[in-house]
Amino acid sequence: MDAFEYTPLHGRVVFGHGTLARVAEELSLLGCRRAFVLSDLHHAKTAAAKLLEVLGDRAVGLSTDAVMHTPVEVTERVLDRVSEASPDCLVSLGGGSTTGLSKAVAFRTGLPQIAIPTTYAGSEATPILGQTEQGRKTTLRSLKVLPRVVVYDVDLTLDMPVRLSVVSGANAMAHAVEALYAKDGNPVTSLLAEQGIAALGRALPLIAADTQHRKARSDALFGAWACGNCLGTVGMALHHKLCHMLGGSFDLPHAETHTVILPHAVAFNRSAAPRALARVARALGVDDAADGLFDLAHKLDAPTSLKAIGMAESDLDKAAEIATSVPYWNPRPVDKGAIRALLEDAYHGRRPSH
Ligand code: NAD
Repeated sequence: MDAFEYTPLHGRVVFGHGTLARVAEELSLLGCRRAFVLSDLHHAKTAAAKLLEVLGDRAVGLSTDAVMHTPVEVTERVLDRVSEASPDCLVSLGGGSTTGLSKAVAFRTGLPQIAIPTTYAGSEATPILGQTEQGRKTTLRSLKVLPRVVVYDVDLTLDMPVRLSVVSGANAMAHAVEALYAKDGNPVTSLLAEQGIAALGRALPLIAADTQHRKARSDALFGAWACGNCLGTVGMALHHKLCHMLGGSFDLPHAETHTVILPHAVAFNRSAAPRALARVARALGVDDAADGLFDLAHKLDAPTSLKAIGMAESDLDKAAEIATSVPYWNPRPVDKGAIRALLEDAYHGRRPSH
């Protein structure tokens, strides 16, 4: 065994069907009494309304303002409402954008959070906050933003449309893929990474065939937790850098961008991280990780080109410039020409280069 360092993250996980009903109990276990609820418009009349019922008079405020990429101006608006309500905790219900808003508020107020995720993005399992201001997305790591409790209720995911299921599942897999070749990788995170990729790889085709497949939904949500946990415990590399840049600077949709870029980032790192990528291939039951990820997206009708998700070809040079100006660590050093070529392949939806 090679030398390694590993710091587990402290956070309680409650996983199952119907666990939304247990949120009031979890609030009490945290010693809290006054919850400010954060959600988005999609959930306002359904799951968020049910959450308010579960919380009863413990809910002291509600914001359904969460939007993609956590813009700082939205956070500041919501902060005013939070401070008027003077809660002693935050409870978020929604996808990664809602979790992001909750983290942004927690970062500024120090309030503890309970997160109830409804997609596979995995943000709830990380101490990472990504925020967008003036067209640039920046990320920070702080234990202040790590939810104290995550309540996974599989039932909340049963109606998630196929496309969102597949792209947010690919977003989760990306966390685990990069964890396997992370600079600070470790055997515990790698075990979770392989498990998470395998669970999502098995579950997503079943969900695409039947969105109400309870066992597949449960496996996929477990995979999302496992992959999110990977992102929470080790560093990111080229893939996440590219996606943050494309989301923050070109306003591309987050999970779709991950879906398109992942096979290309993996192909880029193929020769520099062969052992890690062999583990990805093994988890997916394929010969080559990049091909396997590309084929999976294709088979599940997920987007495979940047063009299809709104990128302009004329922005490729600028994107390559931004991506290489302050690069993240990556197993294969990045240079502008190679990243420009990668982005061009991804723009056109070509099979990743060999
Ligand atoms: P999202 O939260 O933006 O949701 C996408 C859309 O799907 C929204 O319209 C939402 O209302 C809807 N939605 C959510 N759950 C649904 C459900 N169960 N059924 C039907 N519709 C549903 O998207 P996302 O992909 O979950 O999250 C993306 C965001 O998460 C980005 O801002 C990204 O930066 C962030 N993120 C952060 C981390 C981190 O560790 N900090 C990790 C992953 C993602």
